[in-house]
Amino acid sequence: MHTLSGDREGVNMGLMDAIEDIKSRLDVVDTVAEYLQLKPAGSGSFKACCPFHQEKTPSFFVNRPRQSWHCFGCDQGGDVISFVQKMEGMDFPEALEYLAQKAGVILPKFNTEQSSERKRLQEVNDLASKYFRAQLLQNPNADHARAYVAQRGLDELTCDIWRIGYAPDGWNGLTDALRAKGVTEDELIRAGLAIKRDASAKLPTANCQLPTTIYNRFRNRLLFTICDLHGKVVGFTGRILDGGGAQFIASEGVQHHAPTSPPAKYVNTPETLLYKKSHILFGLDKAKGEIKRQDLAVIVEGNMDVITSHQFGVTNVVASSGTALTGEQLNLLKRFTTNLAIAFDADAAGNAATIRGLDLARALDFNVKIIVLPRNAGKDPDEVIRQDVEMWKQAIQGALPVIEWLYRNAFKGQDTTKPEEKKKIAATLLPEFRRISNAVERDAWVARLARDLGVSEDALREELKSIRQQVTGSKDILHPHRSNATVYSLQPTASHPLHDLETRMLAILYLKPEFHPLAQERVSWYHLPESPSEDLLNTLAIFADREFQDQSADALRRELETTCTLLRDKWITGERTRLEQEMRDAELAGDTAKISDLLAQFEKLI
Ligand code: ZN
Repeated sequence: MHTLSGDREGVNMGLMDAIEDIKSRLDVVDTVAEYLQLKPAGSGSFKACCPFHQEKTPSFFVNRPRQSWHCFGCDQGGDVISFVQKMEGMDFPEALEYLAQKAGVILPKFNTEQSSERKRLQEVNDLASKYFRAQLLQNPNADHARAYVAQRGLDELTCDIWRIGYAPDGWNGLTDALRAKGVTEDELIRAGLAIKRDASAKLPTANCQLPTTIYNRFRNRLLFTICDLHGKVVGFTGRILDGGGAQFIASEGVQHHAPTSPPAKYVNTPETLLYKKSHILFGLDKAKGEIKRQDLAVIVEGNMDVITSHQFGVTNVVASSGTALTGEQLNLLKRFTTNLAIAFDADAAGNAATIRGLDLARALDFNVKIIVLPRNAGKDPDEVIRQDVEMWKQAIQGALPVIEWLYRNAFKGQDTTKPEEKKKIAATLLPEFRRISNAVERDAWVARLARDLGVSEDALREELKSIRQQVTGSKDILHPHRSNATVYSLQPTASHPLHDLETRMLAILYLKPEFHPLAQERVSWYHLPESPSEDLLNTLAIFADREFQDQSADALRRELETTCTLLRDKWITGERTRLEQEMRDAELAGDTAKISDLLAQFEKLI
């Protein structure tokens, strides 16, 4: 019987012991062999083709005596925990929990209350998903739902895998079924499945069955089950179905809905402890393996696009639930690839939010391409795929680099014989050219634009230069009361170039100095020195002008929060590596006081 030693160095010792225990029970070679075909390579070493980069001859080695792995191709390495982290796309605590379970080690609880609440809500959502699935298969009143599924061409296996279900048309079907299984009303509400009835609310019609204190959020809808990265059910999207009865739509309160208001096409689980819309990529749990294998994630807009694509064998596809990818979503994707191919629906392409979403991806060092759907083949990937999956595959393969796509977009609908339209096109594209760091490449684009607009390259170069001056000069317009505002500065040096995330954070603070405390609270370790250099101010002004023009204070605050979170993640990863190394050193030196101090720091990072 294994026990955790809480008695040696207080509670902190428990976690490190558990980590050591996991490592001693799970052999790195055996664990890696569950994922890769290992071949002996002498003296306790084994080799395989690296799962983390594309290669044909093996440069990935696992060593049993050292209990470590290393790839000489992409220069990554570590222990059994970091391998599982990378392979499964888990963060450190997730990997620990997963491996602890596998090894039969009990982890000391951190954040116990929240984690058991999460588990419970997952169970409740899972029960709901099973209930909805059974309704689609068996409910005699679900013919219209089954007809819809058939009409969309989804086969039985697909519906099983994606857990597609039906919410019957009634106030208490699900709530009664789950209460019979011991789920409380409160849990149903906190899982986002039920809505508390407002006692004063009038019921919509006399003949509908009286809801009790709570009622179903989803009624007469086709339900898509939304899972997190690890396949745990976190929520649902309910699509409206034609026919079948219900005229009343699930929403926050019955009383707000006049009988004439049209039903919403989609109803989603609200934000809950489990479901945060901006953190979810639909289908990632099923697509992550193929995304990693191909080193490419295809991003589409709709759940249906994802499901159809997977059914037809293109499985590195996920959906963002909105036009712009959020920082959290990008952070998830980064565990598997930094190459994105994005397919926009025809109406979303080219709008400001879409382009800003791309900017964030590029700021986070993603390599972004745009999928252009073949003309007249359909308005979204779902239609294209059902017509001919080969067209979809070719569209993915022929995805355009962002700049090429922006270039083509800028010319769309413009009459290039008119001087003012030439000016408009140049004004759209020159800031894009500015961000190209390679001078030869930038020059080639200027030459191409000069040719296509029928103007001289010199004129464009002149304009390109003046963009920087304009932006620099506009500083005072951005900050009429700037004189005594807090000034942010981090001097980029040769060894530490300003990271894009830092630039992003500082640029927002440049626009909104009043957010300083908000940022400082989130990136507490980060020093924001005074007196900025003129050069840095210019950089920030250009960056702010390009990325955040016309954004509301609210939008900027959200951007700032996301950026700070990402910076923090990055910092934590670095810190953990450093602390682990220092702990090993302290252990060798027998410095128990230092170990204890480092452990305390380590635990704070989780
Ligand atoms: Zn590698």
